[in-house]
Amino acid sequence: MAAQILDGKALSQQVREEVKVEVDKLRGLGVRPGLHVVLVGDDPASAIYVRNKGRACEKVGINGVTHRLPKETTEEELLDLLGKLNADDEVDGVLVQLPLPGHISESRVNDAMDPARDVDGFLPVNLGRLLAGREGLVPCTPAGIIRLIDQSGTAIEGKRAVIIGRSIIVGKPVSLLLMQRHATITVCHSRTRELARLASEADILVAAIGRAKMVKGDWIKEGAVVIDVGMNRDENGKLCGDVDFDEAAGRAAWITPVPGGVGPMTIAYLLRNTVIACCARRGLPSPF
Ligand code: NDP
Repeated sequence: MAAQILDGKALSQQVREEVKVEVDKLRGLGVRPGLHVVLVGDDPASAIYVRNKGRACEKVGINGVTHRLPKETTEEELLDLLGKLNADDEVDGVLVQLPLPGHISESRVNDAMDPARDVDGFLPVNLGRLLAGREGLVPCTPAGIIRLIDQSGTAIEGKRAVIIGRSIIVGKPVSLLLMQRHATITVCHSRTRELARLASEADILVAAIGRAKMVKGDWIKEGAVVIDVGMNRDENGKLCGDVDFDEAAGRAAWITPVPGGVGPMTIAYLLRNTVIACCARRGLPSPF
């Protein structure tokens, strides 16, 4: 069987168009959603992510503002900026690009952020809402993954979903979302025994590990949906996922490519979350 490609680039374009429709409506009401991205230091990968986020905002009409701070910025200075953003009514979403320099405590930064503007959905309040099954800001990559699975036409309910990775930004929230959609979930990590056997039982396999091509073809159940979150470099420096794509594509029914799978969905859902936050802060009904 040759897998069909779950095209995250095309699907993310659709999500962006949906977002633009809602941004246009808000602008008709005199409201322009604003997303503020804070970048501390000069990590080159972070600089690229931040630039891409700014461009994506522009394209859908969101006011994207980047605050570039030098790597010597003190924790107090960063907390001071976050305080100012929390007090500014034009600011609907705030995102602090990770990783932060070592002298700044991530948890103190998180504590200084307003959960209503937490468009990454990483703050404990929003993760707690997700756990409780209540409305809130859902982390972007996991939300994008669910949309990709839905796009394949696969009914999630009753399926066996195996998630490799238990990070707070991908593995854990995507597991909760899949459970909310009535999948039976197995969450694997670095201490999991018989990983290959567990993976091979998955109707839906999500790999969020950060290890190039670790998931081999014989780990894949015939006809599975394979979502590859990983963004790694292979031995030739080429961008690749956590799944050995060529091998897995011979067995899966659907598979996401890297690049062009989960990555573009993450940015699209960031824009979507900004509109959700904007509406919620202003007492407007959620458009999505
Ligand atoms: P983390 O490093 O935070 O988590 C990795 C997870 O994989 C951990 O739970 C870890 O287990 C598990 N793991 C590591 N090695 C093994 C192993 N040998 N066997 C089984 N499990 C293992 O990574 P993230 O969740 O932040 O990211 C994962 C990947 O996804 C990365 O490549 C990242 O770049 C990419 N990513 C892509 C995004 C996108 O938009 N496309 C967005 C976010 C991430 P343990 O908990 O035991 O340490």
